[in-house]
Amino acid sequence: MSTTSLPTKGSKVLLTGASGFLAIHVAEALFDQGFKIVGTVRSNEKGDYLKELFKGKPFEYVIVEDVGKDDAFDEAVKGVEAVVHTASPFHVKADEPSELIQPAVDGTIGVLKSALKNGKDVKRVVITSSVASIENLDKKGPYTWTEADWNTFSEKEINEKGREASGADKYYASKTLAERAAWSFIEENKPSFDLVTICPPYVFGPVLQDVPSIEKINTSVGLFVQVIDGSTKDSALPGPVGNWVDVREVAVAHAKALVVPEAGGERFIVSAGPFCLQDFADAISSAYPDLSKVPKGKAGAAKEANDPKTARVFDGSKATRVLGVKYRPIEETSRDVYESLKAKKLL
Ligand code: NDP
Repeated sequence: MSTTSLPTKGSKVLLTGASGFLAIHVAEALFDQGFKIVGTVRSNEKGDYLKELFKGKPFEYVIVEDVGKDDAFDEAVKGVEAVVHTASPFHVKADEPSELIQPAVDGTIGVLKSALKNGKDVKRVVITSSVASIENLDKKGPYTWTEADWNTFSEKEINEKGREASGADKYYASKTLAERAAWSFIEENKPSFDLVTICPPYVFGPVLQDVPSIEKINTSVGLFVQVIDGSTKDSALPGPVGNWVDVREVAVAHAKALVVPEAGGERFIVSAGPFCLQDFADAISSAYPDLSKVPKGKAGAAKEANDPKTARVFDGSKATRVLGVKYRPIEETSRDVYESLKAKKLL
C-alpha cells in the first residue's frame, strides 16, 4: 500500500479521452464522488457535446488531439489533484501494430511525465488498462486469471510476426506495454503521486457518447449490436467469448480508486465473469419477444459455456473487496444497452 495522500473532495480531476464510451460513465462516477472534471477531447464538437450532456455539473474541456504527442498533457495537468487516463485506441483492425501501441504507450507515459513535470498537486493517477495485459492467448483451457498474471505472449507475437500477428494480439500488446511502462515509470521516477490500474474484460452498458451512426459504435458494444441486428448466426451464439462487466461498475471502480487509500499501488480486475453471445440473445428475446431478428441459438447453452469449471475466468473479487464494486446481472445490462441504442435512434 502506498502512503501518498488522496485527492481532496471538490478538487479537479483530469479525465483523458472524456468523449469515449467508458469515460462518460467515469465522469458521472467522479461527479458522484464530488470531483470537478477537466476532460480532454479531440475536437470542440466533442467537447461541446459533453458540456451539454453534463449541463449543471462541474465540467470543462481542453483539446488534446493526439495523446501520443510529446508534452500533450503539459498544460492540462496544471491545477488537478488526480488524473484518470482512459484515452487509448480500442479496436482489433490495425495493420501495423504501432497504430495501437504508439498512442497507448506514449499516451500513458506522456500523461505521467506531464504530471511529474507540471502536476505539483497530483496525488494519484488511475489508468484504464485491460485484462488484455493479464491474459495469455496461447494458454488454452479453463483457468482463473488474477492480478498476479501478466500477458507475456502478445509482445512476443508482435516481435516475431509484426503486421501478420493477430488483431487481438496487436491490441493486447498495446495494453500490456502501456501498463508495464506505467509501473516502470513509477518505479524509476518515484513521483509524489501513486498509481492504480483498472483491468476490465469486455465492457457493455448504456451508450451515452455521441454516435453518428450505428457503424460508428464503440468496439465492445458493437459485439452486442451484431447479435440483436441479426448479423450473428445461430450457430455462433453458444461458444464462449470471454468475460464481461457493466460499464457502470468499471466507472465506479475508477472513481473509488481515487478515494480508497488501500487502492494505491494496486491493479484491479473488474469483471462479472464469463459470458457468451447466447446471453444477449436470451436476455433480449425474453425482454422484447417481438424482436424477430434476434437469433435463438440453443436453450441452456449459456449456462454450459459459462461454467467456471470449463471457462476462462477473470477473478473480479479484489475490486469488490477493496473498491466495493458489486456486479449486476447480464440481463439488466443487455436491456439497458438496448434501451440506450433505441433512445439514440441507432436501432
Ligand atoms: P472508445 O473508443 O469509446 O474510447 C476511446 C477514447 O480514447 C476516445 O475518447 C478516443 O477519442 C480516445 N483516443 C483514442 N486514441 C486517441 C489518440 N491517439 N489521441 C487522443 N485520444 C484518443 O473506447 P472505450 O471507451 O471502450 O475504451 C476506453 C478505454 O477502456 C481504453 O483505454 C480501452 O483500451 C479500455 N478498455 C475498454 C474495454 C471495452 O470493452 N470497452 C475493455 C478493457 C479496456 P475519439 O473518440 O475522439 O476517437
